[in-house]
Amino acid sequence: MIVLHLPLRGGLIAALIALTVNSAATAQDSAFGGFVRQPLDGPAHNCITPREHDHVRDLLAAYEAAHGPLSAPEPSSSSLLYPFWPQAGYVYGDLFSGLFVDQDPSSGFRDYSCRDFTYNTHAGIDCGLRSFAEQMIGVPVFAVLEGTVVATQDGFDDMNVSGKNNDANFVIIDHGKGRLGYYWHLKKNSVIVTPGQPVVAGQQIGLTASSGYSFGPHLHFESRDLPDYTVFDPFAGDCRPGDSGWADQEPLNLDTYFVDFAFTYEDLFQHDPLPYEQPRTGQIATSDGFIYFWMIFANLPPGSTWRNVFIRPDGTTAYDSGDVEFGWNYFIRQSGLFFYWWIPDMHTITGRWRVQVYFNGALMTDAPIEVVVERDPQFNRPPEPISLRFDPPAPTDADAIFCRLDTDLVLDDLDYDVVRYEYTWRIDGNEVRRVTSAGHADAIPRGLAPAGSVVECLVTPSDGRTTGTSATISAVVGDAGSNCSGEEKLKARCREKRGAYLLKAKISGGAPGATLTFRLDERPETDNAQNVNNRGKAVAKFNGLTAGEHAVEVLECGLRKNVTCE
Ligand SMILES: [Zn+2]
Repeated sequence: MIVLHLPLRGGLIAALIALTVNSAATAQDSAFGGFVRQPLDGPAHNCITPREHDHVRDLLAAYEAAHGPLSAPEPSSSSLLYPFWPQAGYVYGDLFSGLFVDQDPSSGFRDYSCRDFTYNTHAGIDCGLRSFAEQMIGVPVFAVLEGTVVATQDGFDDMNVSGKNNDANFVIIDHGKGRLGYYWHLKKNSVIVTPGQPVVAGQQIGLTASSGYSFGPHLHFESRDLPDYTVFDPFAGDCRPGDSGWADQEPLNLDTYFVDFAFTYEDLFQHDPLPYEQPRTGQIATSDGFIYFWMIFANLPPGSTWRNVFIRPDGTTAYDSGDVEFGWNYFIRQSGLFFYWWIPDMHTITGRWRVQVYFNGALMTDAPIEVVVERDPQFNRPPEPISLRFDPPAPTDADAIFCRLDTDLVLDDLDYDVVRYEYTWRIDGNEVRRVTSAGHADAIPRGLAPAGSVVECLVTPSDGRTTGTSATISAVVGDAGSNCSGEEKLKARCREKRGAYLLKAKISGGAPGATLTFRLDERPETDNAQNVNNRGKAVAKFNGLTAGEHAVEVLECGLRKNVTCE
């Protein structure tokens, strides 16, 4: 029998289950434990309770009395396309989008893709952090569009793991055209905007946490349209027809991967449950007992298998479990579990061992662990090097500019420490923002960097004890021009047509009525001007292309996309 251990992420409801102890065929003792998310058939759940919604109505009435009316609904909402997920990180990287808006008006539940990644009545999108440790370091929440702050609340506890009567810290922004954005569960004393204050896209408004009716640190982002506070789900799919509310909708990720992982010599059966963190170490001693390793994983299909392989410092295999069935007959969107093992050689052979974990035959991680005679409390390695990129890659004065870092979710630090990143932003050499975040991205607000200025992002990783190697990138900010909404996304596709290739380039999120110039392979003679329709879209076609790599640009907006015709 196994007990509940790993904390829950992103507001998922967990169900405690008992797992059978695996009796390995060899002398090694092993087992695994943890919790899983089962298909939800429990009570309805929205992160914003009816009581809180009533409270919001009161706050908005007070706002209107003091500042005048909220924005009026307009039939065209094309300029309201959300250009990014409003949190400092990568969705399906250091962030995990686990639960969506419930599209089923009955007591059942289904998300926009007709799957069950939601709760009955859930009206927003939940995107979780990997741990409370990341919450404590801080993960910024940004305004997704420009607008005016119309309600805020702060000062409430932010480490909740249950309890619908908790009050949340939140920000509500009137994004115009009758659209309200609710940014929920924020960190205590992190709200840095006030009602009546104008904000722009990419402006920090608070930090991610677990205040209110929440089971773990996550952002609940809910969109509602006046006058009736109708829930708007920006995700379009089979169970949510119509245009997407995103300029570039994040595809639903169903890949199996590890979100987080660490070794420990501590007995995880005895470890404190939520909200305490799971232990992490880069060293184990030959005198330690079982070796434990825990993981948070995403997207485990029914009928899945696991396999653990222990590799000695000389590269030979000490133990291979082979593929073993989990014995679970349902899809697990995100959960955690741990293994513990007694590998005799790990109690005699020192050096850098490796543990490989496979799910369904695919290598999830190949994780090093230093085996020593005696653990050295001073032993520590800095975080691994990172690389950076801007998003969008050619930023303009109309963009909220993201600086995104690339690192391995598991091997970002070889001691499995939680890594934090100091982001320093400069415009023409002048520091404009400095923040320490656990997020794998940061942003500066739209309009902060003028056209022609040089924007620089410097990022220094640290595990809290040792600083790693800094990375830096810079770019000249483009001029979006009057033809650009700043929220354009460019997509290009190539297909064969009678021995040659047809390249189709498509803009979404454009300013309706604007004229945009598409250019192929940097050749002015190919310039192709197209009008943006009232849904913010424009399409240009280029015929008779040769096989190989081609580039398409939208000149006014500084956008470029490479596409391979094959
Ligand atoms: Zn939620």
